[in-house]
Amino acid sequence: MFSPEEQNFPLKKVKDAAKEIGTTNVVVLTGAGISVASGIMPFRGKGGLWEKYDPEEVANIENFRRNPKKSWVMLKEVLEVVEKALPNPAHLSLARMEEMGFASSIITQNIDGLHQKAGSKTVIEFHGNTTRLVCLGCAALYPAREIDLSSLPPYCPVCNGVLKPDAVFFGESIPRNALYQAHMEVQQCQVMLVVGTSGMVEPAASLPRLAKSKGAFIIEINPEHSYLTSSITTLFLQGKAEEVLPVIFEELCALRDY
Ligand code: NAD
Ligand code: ZN
Repeated sequence: MFSPEEQNFPLKKVKDAAKEIGTTNVVVLTGAGISVASGIMPFRGKGGLWEKYDPEEVANIENFRRNPKKSWVMLKEVLEVVEKALPNPAHLSLARMEEMGFASSIITQNIDGLHQKAGSKTVIEFHGNTTRLVCLGCAALYPAREIDLSSLPPYCPVCNGVLKPDAVFFGESIPRNALYQAHMEVQQCQVMLVVGTSGMVEPAASLPRLAKSKGAFIIEINPEHSYLTSSITTLFLQGKAEEVLPVIFEELCALRDY
């Protein structure tokens, strides 16, 4: 295990974060940054699919309805990357934190299903999940890996409607249940742990603001300053999620004397 002093997050800060997390009701908000170490690039980072495709164009609901085949060429590549991706130490640490009662839920903007693959149970999918496909005709849901993508777009075996990944596209609203559950969690939390999000995408970016307005302590993990860092964050741990979260988890275990 590397030493945290060698990184930009001194052990003192990690201990402070663990102390806050260890004593109270913690809600976690994750963004694309947490899945970078699993090989899934964030929209705004370098490399990966997004240098080839503009997600705002191909994952736009109007464009998809107009020309689903064109969107599906990119979506098929996204699904292949997501299907192969494995949870990294950041996802695994959060799953262990939930198991040990340190975190009550994860609200994720990610659409890759990696929190569930890591074993997290209470995951609120703010932007849906590409591991499921939804029929635009009858709203039936299918596991993506069970649908043949050799000819695009795929169609619903029941009503022949076009199938779309069950992720929120640009121009679509946040699923009502996820929005409701996220607000309930955020209003009750005393600590919000914000991991790997730029804080640019609304309405998810408003969740830390809401938590803060209700008096919550905001801990942020990100290698870069985000839109939240100077105005919303109480304790900033500058580093990669896959490096910082395992250290926090170790500290939590030490606090509990495991
Ligand atoms: P974003 O792309 O706007 O920002 C990513 C953030 O992660 C940046 O602040 C960056 O500094 C940080 N980051 C990079 N590497 C990191 C690491 N190793 N550890 C911690 N943080 C790291 O992401 P966003 O705020 O989640 O918003 C983008 C939208 O794109 C989301 O709504 C999401 O649905 C979608 N998206 C999802 C995935 C995914 O499911 N994995 C991937 C790309 C985009
Ligand atoms: Zn159908």
